[in-house]
Amino acid sequence: MAQIGTDLQVAKKLLEAGNVIGIPTETVYGLAGNALNPDAVLKIFQVKNRPSFDPLIVHTDSIHKLDQLVTAFPEAALRLANAFWPGPLTLLLPKHDLVPDLVTAGLPTVAVRIPNHSLTSNLLRSLDFPLAAPSANPFGYISPTTAQHVADQLGAQIPYVLDGGPSNVGIESTIVGFENNKAVVFRLGGLALEQIEQLIGPVAVRTHSTSNPKAPGMLSSHYAPRKPLILLSAGESPDPDERAGALVFREPFGGLQNDYQLVLSPTGDPNEAAKNLFAYLRALDNLPIDIIYAEPLPNVGLGWAMNDRLRRASVEK
Ligand code: AMP
Ligand code: MG
Repeated sequence: MAQIGTDLQVAKKLLEAGNVIGIPTETVYGLAGNALNPDAVLKIFQVKNRPSFDPLIVHTDSIHKLDQLVTAFPEAALRLANAFWPGPLTLLLPKHDLVPDLVTAGLPTVAVRIPNHSLTSNLLRSLDFPLAAPSANPFGYISPTTAQHVADQLGAQIPYVLDGGPSNVGIESTIVGFENNKAVVFRLGGLALEQIEQLIGPVAVRTHSTSNPKAPGMLSSHYAPRKPLILLSAGESPDPDERAGALVFREPFGGLQNDYQLVLSPTGDPNEAAKNLFAYLRALDNLPIDIIYAEPLPNVGLGWAMNDRLRRASVEK
């Protein structure tokens, strides 16, 4: 059973020996292993039960260390990196030969990110290799935002979870790639689109791309609880039902038990809502209810990314 702790030396030794462990980041917890060691990378796929066509994000602590991971850094990428790293932004850049093909699922680009979490930054600084780390959940289930979430689901298969407290942002990183030097958003996430556009102007958003079927963060069913989740339309209320719960933005619906309704942000703050999103979905999944209703969030800031997650978590009405 995984031990939960805050000991960087233990984490470092386990990673150096080729093990995979849980690590905190500001987006969600990651399942981390040496990105340059194919055996460690293979373990990540096995523990998560992740299909090998789903590429991993590689984490490091400084732009200089990316020299060994990517072969080019387009101007637009550098501007984004300088503005938003460390932070919830992943860049897709041409892959260096040193990165095993397993990491990128054979793609010519590698996903890279500098996370913004002091414990994990210290860990990365102490290692002489980068960490491949997808979200530390079984494939397709809700991403973990606490060390306990990781231990609950993957604890039997990994030795250690580094505990850095609840993730501050709470949803996965925004993924940006480049075509002819122009930025394209492939996954909405913890860095708001507005912030990117303020810096580099309007960008294309292609989160349902069929030209990139190898990116399951974009699969139409993903991030899902075990219970059926129905995403309501804006302004719509659920039918009164005593076996239903709800994930709501600012206030509970009438007609459903209040105990079974979780309020993401009573003050209407999208950042607070994002921080609570996955933990509340998990909590609803564990309540004695048969169905989860979710209210869509206003399409501002992280609201876009949260609605995207809820859509992928939902079943058809
Ligand atoms: P996760 O770390 O679990 O949030 O998932 C990583 C996601 O990053 C994948 O599911 C893909 O959507 C995306 N990704 C990683 N590497 C690439 C790549 N080289 N090209 C396109 N998408 C990628
Ligand atoms: Mg994931």
